[in-house]
Amino acid sequence: MNEDTIAAIATALGEGSIAVVRVSGPAAVDTVAKVFKSKQDLREVASHTVQYGWIIDPHNGNVLDEVLVTVMKGPRSFTAEDVVEVSTHGGIVAVKSVLELIVRHGARLAEPGEFTKRAFLNGRIDLSQAEAVIDLIRSKSDRAFQIARKQADGSLSKQIIPMRQKLIELLAHVEVNIDYPEHDVEDVTADLIRDHCGSALLQVQQLLNRANEGKILREGIMTVIVGRPNAGKSSLLNALARENKAIVTDIPGTTRDIVEESVSISGIPLRLLDTAGIRETSDKVEQIGVERSHGALNDADLILLVLNHHEPLHEDEKKLLEQLKDRPTIVVINKIDLPGELEISEVEQDYAKERIVYLSAKEGNGIEELEKAVSGLFFSGAVESDDITYVSNARHISLLHQTKCSLEDAINATYEGVPIDLIQIDIAASWESLGQILGDAAGDSLLDQIFSQFCLGK
Ligand code: GDP
Ligand code: ZN
Repeated sequence: MNEDTIAAIATALGEGSIAVVRVSGPAAVDTVAKVFKSKQDLREVASHTVQYGWIIDPHNGNVLDEVLVTVMKGPRSFTAEDVVEVSTHGGIVAVKSVLELIVRHGARLAEPGEFTKRAFLNGRIDLSQAEAVIDLIRSKSDRAFQIARKQADGSLSKQIIPMRQKLIELLAHVEVNIDYPEHDVEDVTADLIRDHCGSALLQVQQLLNRANEGKILREGIMTVIVGRPNAGKSSLLNALARENKAIVTDIPGTTRDIVEESVSISGIPLRLLDTAGIRETSDKVEQIGVERSHGALNDADLILLVLNHHEPLHEDEKKLLEQLKDRPTIVVINKIDLPGELEISEVEQDYAKERIVYLSAKEGNGIEELEKAVSGLFFSGAVESDDITYVSNARHISLLHQTKCSLEDAINATYEGVPIDLIQIDIAASWESLGQILGDAAGDSLLDQIFSQFCLGK
């Protein structure tokens, strides 16, 4: 437990109708009691009750504000410490003067995230939940918010904790077999390892499969629109922006002439990069292709290759079709309101039907089909489901990858006749990397866990 008591404004600064000063730590109640006047002494009120009264500077008797004070005694509070929340009138002046007074009477200003950090250090939440609280605050879209909300509630932890429990039980079994080799249980042990590590592997793989979707929901699909001049790239960008009223930004990019625009397709943020400007001012038509927007193309989650339905395929377009066929590319055949000159069969050679969309950016036809194609490419139709845990945090993803490798190593080793006590190391590693997601300091605790299990049977 922390020795000191911290305080901060817990609500957004600005003109809300109320603002909240949150105080946490062993002296939380005492500190606020010094500056709060009401019918009852704050030190004597029951936990989880609200008191009405005034914040008064005890040195000069000045009344700062009329407030409601909530007392939540630890451990049943957000930080698991004693927490007092003072609801003041909105407006920056009132809340700041209340905070200052509280700080002068025994609390110190909290560092950013310090309440959440205390909740973690006090075992109230695990690290993945603490990280989700940060995501929650930063989330820019509804979907991103939902993902963070679920994780803050422990959706990821609820999968990881039982997985770790099973791995620990496996380690215990393996340990017994190492100690009693005369039981001749090598084969049984190998089966057991394959079985247990296999089911953990499946679960980790499922989490990883969803990880990319999680990242996309959080950060948006980085989309690049490419094609020859006049194909209708700018028109497509505008049509998408028009269709989706939720235009968030319209920032001129850092690179010359690259324009970024955000639209939302059924809740999925799409960050559209129109590289058209570059091409149109370029003299050399051969350079039209990929070169100058190479970086953008490489980083893209999605490429929209715009072709002109009204003209035969150009050499540059044939090159682009070839270059982009193994990328997440959707071919947009634009200007279908005009007679067709394009050799569609050539496109269909390399692109499945789901990846070809016909539309008219000018008339706005076919935009919905494009949206469907995009959803289909990124989400296996399950995006609406509430039951899915999306791992979107880079640290968690990398730890899940580590876990996956260790589990695979353990399973493979059973087929290669590797001694069991070496396989044990892989299993322990997977247990540890999963634990790191939750913020466990492994090492010693791994040993403790193993020994505590052995006390029962031996
Ligand atoms: P970009 O050079 O690829 O960005 O192409 P633009 O979006 O600037 O469009 C080039 C020309 O094609 C403009 O005159 C547009 O009005 C026209 N255009 C774009 N989309 C369509 C379409 O779907 N149908 C027709 N008929 N014209 C279009
Ligand atoms: Zn253009």
